[in-house]
Amino acid sequence: MKRRNNYDTEVIIVGGGLTGCTIAALLARQDIHCIILEECARTSGNSEIRTDPRALAITRASANILGSTGAWQHLSRDRIGYFSGMHVWDENGAGEIHFDSAELCEPTLGYIIEQTILEQALQQSLEGVECVTWYRPATPASLMQGDNGITVTLEDGRNLCASLIVAADGARSRIRTLAAIDYPQYDYHQQAVACVVKTEKPHTHVARQRFLQNGPLAFLPMADIRQCGIVWSTSPQHARSLLALDEQEFNMALGEGLDNVLGRIVSSGPRACFPLQHAQAREYCRPGLALIGDAAHTVHPLAGQGANLGLLDAAVLAEVVLDAKNRNRDIGAYLVLRRYERWRKGENYAMLKLLQGFKYLFESKLLTVRYLRNLGLDLTDRAIPVKHMFMRYAMGLTGDLPAAARATS
Ligand SMILES: Cc1cc2nc3c(=O)[nH]c(=O)nc-3n(C[C@H](O)[C@H](O)[C@H](O)COP(=O)(O)OP(=O)(O)OC[C@H]3O[C@@H](n4cnc5c(N)ncnc54)[C@H](O)[C@@H]3O)c2cc1C
Repeated sequence: MKRRNNYDTEVIIVGGGLTGCTIAALLARQDIHCIILEECARTSGNSEIRTDPRALAITRASANILGSTGAWQHLSRDRIGYFSGMHVWDENGAGEIHFDSAELCEPTLGYIIEQTILEQALQQSLEGVECVTWYRPATPASLMQGDNGITVTLEDGRNLCASLIVAADGARSRIRTLAAIDYPQYDYHQQAVACVVKTEKPHTHVARQRFLQNGPLAFLPMADIRQCGIVWSTSPQHARSLLALDEQEFNMALGEGLDNVLGRIVSSGPRACFPLQHAQAREYCRPGLALIGDAAHTVHPLAGQGANLGLLDAAVLAEVVLDAKNRNRDIGAYLVLRRYERWRKGENYAMLKLLQGFKYLFESKLLTVRYLRNLGLDLTDRAIPVKHMFMRYAMGLTGDLPAAARATS
């Protein structure tokens, strides 16, 4: 490979998942050269076997970012579900809340897309892009910060040097460990069972979430009017028993869990289980190094925000790096990367704490808390300005957004 000055490339991105591909695409569009190191040999697009059945709720802001990368254009229309309504209610009580995008004169609150389909579209958007080189399978073994950039040594002994390394390698980030960045984790003692189901009644483009005794059960409306992605967050014992059920028993349990609002569950696909935790890295950057996505933070999936926060990280870091490059500054300089950290860390932390609060509020079995949360749901349902504020928040259209999130796709 041709070396750029003393470097092999300008940016090395570790992890070719949602956030890694997003930042690569945004940088490449500005002619910034990247190498992506991905440990998994297979591209998600090459296999029809879906090992990850997660369907993600994608905010309008994230859709804009995906539009800016070019990935949105690679999504086939029949794989993009949308939701214009949201219904949240509590198993223990009469409190409920309804959201409708029409109240804000908006066509949708957000989109529902399978994680693997999204990854595939992002990878397609990078195909044939001259500025982007993939190394796969490739895993970093060590990191070294020098006067002239940062060097990563791969497990096969190759050395690669760049001005900036971006850790986009997920919650168990090897780069974060190699850099000895602290990542205090809080275990929710919950697991999420995810799969795709067919329902008897059409979902009418409403995302539904019912808070059950052990945790929330979400039905996310997919492109097919009778298909939903489900995420059932529950105790580890209950998750194990759900995984052990045969399809018919599982479908029954799901139908009852949602109070049969969508009728019978006609069929369900392969199930996967994910341990749930929240965590935030103490530092998002060091000289020559930045953490994005799940490598920097993980949150409870109850509000479907993890990937959305990661896409915002990618868009902000790309904007900060581009700005530095345009001013002829070192893109790996600590002061440059601190701008990214200041922009994102507080916002991510606020979301992490908000979701933690929701989780405690809804799992409490105390009578007073149950009464207050049902009252809160009802009062919020009637307090129109508060409700509208929640809707804008859910659409991702509040806060200090990077340009890519504001541009309409
Ligand atoms: C049940 C569940 C439901 C969810 N629902 C939603 C939702 O509705 N909306 C939402 O916004 N978010 C949701 N999330 C969160 C979302 O899935 C994650 O936040 C998102 O996948 C994080 O993307 P990432 O690219 O940062 O990390 P990952 O998706 O973990 O990707 C990391 C990549 O790095 C690669 N990698 C890992 N280690 C190495 C290494 N050492 N070397 C090289 N490559 C490496 C991996 O192979 C992978 O390709 C949900 C999560 C769960 C568990």
